[in-house]
Amino acid sequence: MTAVDPNDVSAVHSESKVNLLGLTRLQMEQFFLDLGEKKFRAQQVLKWIHHAGVTRIEDMSNLGKALRDKLSAIAEVRPPEIVSQQDSSDGTRKWAIRVEGGGLVETVLIPAGNRATLCVSSQVGCSLDCSFCSTGKQGFQRDLSAAEIIGQVWLAINSYNAFGPGHNRVVSNVVMMGMGEPLLNFDNVVAAMDLMLEDLAYGLSKRRVTLSTSGVVPALDRLAGLSEVSLAVSLHAPNDELRNQLVPINRKYPIAVLLESCRNYMASQTDKSRVVTIEYTLIHEVNDQVHHARELVALLRDTPCKINLIPFNTFAQSDYRRPSGNAVSRFWQVLVDAGYIVTIRTTRGDDIDAACGQLVGQVADRTRRSERYRAMDDSQIITVG
Ligand code: SF4
Repeated sequence: MTAVDPNDVSAVHSESKVNLLGLTRLQMEQFFLDLGEKKFRAQQVLKWIHHAGVTRIEDMSNLGKALRDKLSAIAEVRPPEIVSQQDSSDGTRKWAIRVEGGGLVETVLIPAGNRATLCVSSQVGCSLDCSFCSTGKQGFQRDLSAAEIIGQVWLAINSYNAFGPGHNRVVSNVVMMGMGEPLLNFDNVVAAMDLMLEDLAYGLSKRRVTLSTSGVVPALDRLAGLSEVSLAVSLHAPNDELRNQLVPINRKYPIAVLLESCRNYMASQTDKSRVVTIEYTLIHEVNDQVHHARELVALLRDTPCKINLIPFNTFAQSDYRRPSGNAVSRFWQVLVDAGYIVTIRTTRGDDIDAACGQLVGQVADRTRRSERYRAMDDSQIITVG
């Protein structure tokens, strides 16, 4: 474990300078046009930042001295600050990251075969207070900026000294499943995902970037036609009565409305064969019974999807319990028999306090969160927690 002094605030920079790290290609082009410079400067700077990992403007050698001086006076490349890093014997690496203003978020990189999935946070805390998640119990502090979101990808690659050709091997997939509800930080999340897909930045395929939402329906409707990233929905219950308890935003946007919004999102994609991932946290004697599974089968009949079952991981502030292995198997079998593709998340990073929030808790004495890191690829679902 590498620890950094949490009281060191030297990484907090002047807020008067533009942080180039979070600018999309279009924003960067406009930035240079506004400076009276040519648009192609944006391509050069994007490559320096996201392909080469360069943060010092004076090192951007193809810009010319006069432009570098002009740029340095008004802009900088300012990644968030790593406060603590932990490495698991299974290859999982986890960071606590301090963002401006002093808030802490977590980022986790989970390798699996020839892939490595980065779980990225979008907010400091969360306002939605799902009953099985301790992030909500921390309360909401603020949205992350686009630079602080994409900065997590930058930091992960940088921590392996892996900028340059092939950095996609270090972070091959990104899931917006860390702290916060991404659709409640819409503009910054969309901008950061834009950079994830942008060839001049990280160049990830749209299938390898996943947004996970608890069901902010108007924002999901807005995303349709605007983005082609993969979609995951935290359902966790087969009916409104139960979901109202587990995911309170359901009282505002009930399941039928949410699933219709999911279908619309998938219909807006150019590739019509894609499906939504339904996330279902199994909680002992709450939602893990066979009759719940049967209800789920009926509920999802008209929604092209695959299902990710997540056995609940206990945490101190929760009375919920982990389901038995038999209960998980029975639930899985009902779904498989009905023809669904179903994965069960396995646990990773046991030896590094990998349950989400533990690392932040160590650093800042915060409340520990329930498992939130959900690393997914098309063939395997992995849990840290
Ligand atoms: S599960 Fe997600 S949306 Fe719900 S409280 Fe936790 S972080 Fe927020």
